[in-house]
Amino acid sequence: MKTTRRHFLKVGGALASAFSLAPYFSKAATPATKPLVISTWNFGKAANVEAWKVLSTNGRALDAVELGVHVPEGDPTETSVGLGGLPDRDGRVTLDACIMDEFSNCGSVACLEHIVHPISVARKVMEKTPHVMLVGDGALQFALANGFKKENLLTAESEKAWKEWIKKSEYKPIANIENHDTIGMLALDMKQNLSGACTTSGMAYKMHGRVGDSPIIGAGLFVDNEIGAATSSGLGEEVIRIVGSHLVVELMRQGNSPQQACEIAVKRVVKNQPEKSKSIQVGFLAINKNGEYGAYALQKGFTYALYSNEIPNKVFEANSYYK
Ligand code: ASP
Repeated sequence: MKTTRRHFLKVGGALASAFSLAPYFSKAATPATKPLVISTWNFGKAANVEAWKVLSTNGRALDAVELGVHVPEGDPTETSVGLGGLPDRDGRVTLDACIMDEFSNCGSVACLEHIVHPISVARKVMEKTPHVMLVGDGALQFALANGFKKENLLTAESEKAWKEWIKKSEYKPIANIENHDTIGMLALDMKQNLSGACTTSGMAYKMHGRVGDSPIIGAGLFVDNEIGAATSSGLGEEVIRIVGSHLVVELMRQGNSPQQACEIAVKRVVKNQPEKSKSIQVGFLAINKNGEYGAYALQKGFTYALYSNEIPNKVFEANSYYK
């Protein structure tokens, strides 16, 4: 029998109900909101503008997120990402970043010094090596061998802040202030493919060698092109403990909306650390394949920026567990 399109659709429909794929089929009937880009914190707004240039011209989500996060990475006044990032307790600026595409390809660098755009090194790790993650000196050597320039990332302002900090040397991450904050960016392109990027200088005045959630695939970022994508910001140790971004995507796979998934993940942090969770910040951001999105945090003040055809780049504040 000749397989006509009609026949295929009929068989597809029968299979869908037989194997309860109906939700997927009916979801496909609703046109997805695309393209779309969403990113953490207020600085996400300027980053979204660059990402949108790629997305609105039918570019790939992967290129959009890489170029988008270049904005805060290269901005010396942003003290929590890339150039100008606050140093560790030894005065060294060490960067963490990762990137993931629609094919589950991923790349990551951790504790990387002297390179303004760690996200692009992470992409090179993904594309040019048999590995997922390079750290420290090995990551730097790889970057230099691939044409990245060695630069001093410690600005006079960040050095001054660090010199002030060493007088007391108290490591006290405070929720929502600029001594941390990661840019996590998620994008859905016109072909309905998802990618994500996450980049940070990590917690200010951390121990030298400390790595947070941001460069860890599954913790700071996770993308599953069938389901959705998630990213996080806040105290990385608590996100790693629950493998947060992977958890959010798996919760969406189980049928939760992006908003519900972020809320359940934040509540998991509370369950793990009932006392500590009162004074730290952790926030999640998620989108699904249909361009629905969600955000939720432990504390008030977790903002994110959204750019779509309907909402041309606006900053919102996420709801929070503690009011
Ligand atoms: N998650 C980052 C880290 O733990 C910091 C942040 O996003 O605030 O390094």
